[in-house]
Amino acid sequence: MRTREETVARLVGGLPGREWESLVATRRDLHRHPELAFEERRTAGVVADRLRRLGFAPREGVGRTGVTADPAGGAASGRAPRILLRADMDALPLTEASGAAFASAEPGRMHACGHDGHVAIALSLAERLARSPEASRFRFLFQPAEEGAGGAEACAADGALEGVGAALGLHLWNQLPVGKIGVNRGALMAAVDEFEIRVEGPGGHGAAPHETADSIVAAARIVEALQTVVSREISPLEPAVVTVGTIHGGSAFNVIPAEVTLTGTTRSFSDAVGKALPEKIARIVEGTAAAAGVRARLDYKRVNRATVNDPAYADFVIAEAARLLGAENVETDTRTLGGEDMSVYLARVPGCFFFVGSAPEGPHRPHHSPVFDIDERALAIGMLLFERVALAAAKRLSA
Ligand SMILES: [Zn+2]
Ligand SMILES: [Zn+2]
Repeated sequence: MRTREETVARLVGGLPGREWESLVATRRDLHRHPELAFEERRTAGVVADRLRRLGFAPREGVGRTGVTADPAGGAASGRAPRILLRADMDALPLTEASGAAFASAEPGRMHACGHDGHVAIALSLAERLARSPEASRFRFLFQPAEEGAGGAEACAADGALEGVGAALGLHLWNQLPVGKIGVNRGALMAAVDEFEIRVEGPGGHGAAPHETADSIVAAARIVEALQTVVSREISPLEPAVVTVGTIHGGSAFNVIPAEVTLTGTTRSFSDAVGKALPEKIARIVEGTAAAAGVRARLDYKRVNRATVNDPAYADFVIAEAARLLGAENVETDTRTLGGEDMSVYLARVPGCFFFVGSAPEGPHRPHHSPVFDIDERALAIGMLLFERVALAAAKRLSA
């Protein structure tokens, strides 16, 4: 049996030199020029040019700054539903400190999630599939604004799913080494909600707390009481997270402020837990505030629902990944409490989203951190697996 390293070396070495160079050069070019949500104009331009060179007629401005392409021709019937092959394009608002030679040229912007790699993979995939008799079975979608700004909703509202029967997508994943694949036959990624709590009291002198009600103390109690949502109110068999991420209040050391604002996020997998969370949080927030003699208002927003794979499409990924990399390199029960707006498509059509191991040698370089980087061999592995899964799915949708 080959080791994982040997398998990866054989697969990467087996790519035509031009294809490998193009994957790396595209990723590095995009990495150097990151663009934030709904500002991906240069990126979309690079994408549309490449698609035009393949003879496609890309549609630009999809969901504001996205690009789609529907290859024509081939043996397939024009009426069969297409399979959406999705890559996200946006970067994050942070300043890169990876030390890479091709690091971001833009302070305050960085491809710290690997979306540059997703675009590179999908463009090489488009080149391969353009030559396939199945080409017209696919729709390529280069999606803007995955990182919480609603890019998938914008694309879906702009017709990206019209005539689509299934959706596939991948994410480079630094929780796994290169050559490993992570997938799940059900929920892979969590539902993401966002909340804001405004605690309001009369305010007063720091030396006379008995003459007012203290919004700071109330906010502190609320933060603590929210810890019991997961530990005391949700079944221990169900994953959930409640995190308070910001606390803002007060303007002077000797003033009890009139207002404190907290923001945070919740994560969950099941619909039942997702539905229960806002009611439980509201009860605790209002009750705790009342006990402290102040008022509190909860504003609760759904960001992403859970990213739930269809078991049949997940089985294609598992089978094709096992053929490519060996069954021992396919993790079939992967779950993370991170969120993804791939969930928008997977809530409407069946399909699968999967993780492609991309952790580089050396210290951990987590997603969304200023030192994020990938092992670029993952670009080749991701592209090869995406191609196999897309063709397997096309066969299924024609059957
Ligand atoms: Zn991300
Ligand atoms: Zn991402």
